[in-house]
Amino acid sequence: MAFGLVQAFRTFGKLTLAGAIGASFAAGDVGAQQKQPSPGSAKALFGAVALPTQGSARPIGFYAKGCMTGAAALPSDGPTWQAMRLSRNRRWGNPAMISLLEKFSQDANDKIGWPGILVGDIAQPRGGPMFNGHASHQIGLDADVWLTPMPSHRMSYEERETLPFTTMMQKDKFLTVDPKVWTEQRAELLMLAASYPQVERIFVNPAIKKKMCDTWTGDRTNLGKLRPEYGHDSHFHIRIKCPPGAAGCKPQAPVAAGDGCDKSLAWWFTKEPWAPPKPSPKPPKPPREVMVSDLPKACAGVLDAPAAAATIAGTYDGAPAANALTAAPAALPASEDLLPVTGPVPPEKPAMP
Ligand SMILES: [Zn+2]
Repeated sequence: MAFGLVQAFRTFGKLTLAGAIGASFAAGDVGAQQKQPSPGSAKALFGAVALPTQGSARPIGFYAKGCMTGAAALPSDGPTWQAMRLSRNRRWGNPAMISLLEKFSQDANDKIGWPGILVGDIAQPRGGPMFNGHASHQIGLDADVWLTPMPSHRMSYEERETLPFTTMMQKDKFLTVDPKVWTEQRAELLMLAASYPQVERIFVNPAIKKKMCDTWTGDRTNLGKLRPEYGHDSHFHIRIKCPPGAAGCKPQAPVAAGDGCDKSLAWWFTKEPWAPPKPSPKPPKPPREVMVSDLPKACAGVLDAPAAAATIAGTYDGAPAANALTAAPAALPASEDLLPVTGPVPPEKPAMP
């Protein structure tokens, strides 16, 4: 690799972190209320790495406590998807996740006429905790998909940064889906996502789950995979199982049998989940920052492992899902060429080492 390029990547890593921290303070979002991650914390270290490791793909640990090797990037564009918020550099995942997203987007187009999906955060290049936005998304098996359809044009880098989220919620009513925004097609999209055997959970706002419970008249076998959760009113979150053979990936208990339109959903419509925390005489201690030593042991090695040559060298090329777990990082897909080079996409494909 040319010296200039190496230099560019080093600079990029620092810029990304600085830029992201700056953005979160400026935007006054959740990140702004958080302390900047300390140097040496897991959030700071994993957030500063710009590229995945070389080698085979391995999820290590649990969805909310782990890291990964051999991640593949979702190409920023495909026939039926566009990746959003490219500056975050969070379109990395286990190849099994990337291949599912590509298939899901194609099926959504073929089967229900959804023009294509907008993909939000998947994971950082080596997974690990993020300093804003998510508790999970740490091992490459979680991905956020917008409830907004892909527009007919290819969005610019800038548009992908700034396109606002569209909430499905009615503004002046407690936990209610807005019938003017919600559509049958969105219900079909969720049930399509839930139909894949490797998908174990889909997180949606409790109001969306209730809407599905009240209105879905088709096969309800997979309705139980839709899990009510805070937020998730403008996007849904797809979680897949540990891929077969992924030793070191800690599975989550399967969802309970049934459609989930039961007491567990009714609880969300009580005061309990929304009550402010009880005042206590002493101010609560802020939670201790997660350090790399809190993650599975192998994650320290993941941080130190040699990097893939470049983002495009690690971009997923559509290898069949069956091989995806151990698939080598793939070559540049044609579509990647077309994106204007305004983001963390190297201007040319560097030679593989
Ligand atoms: Zn998510």
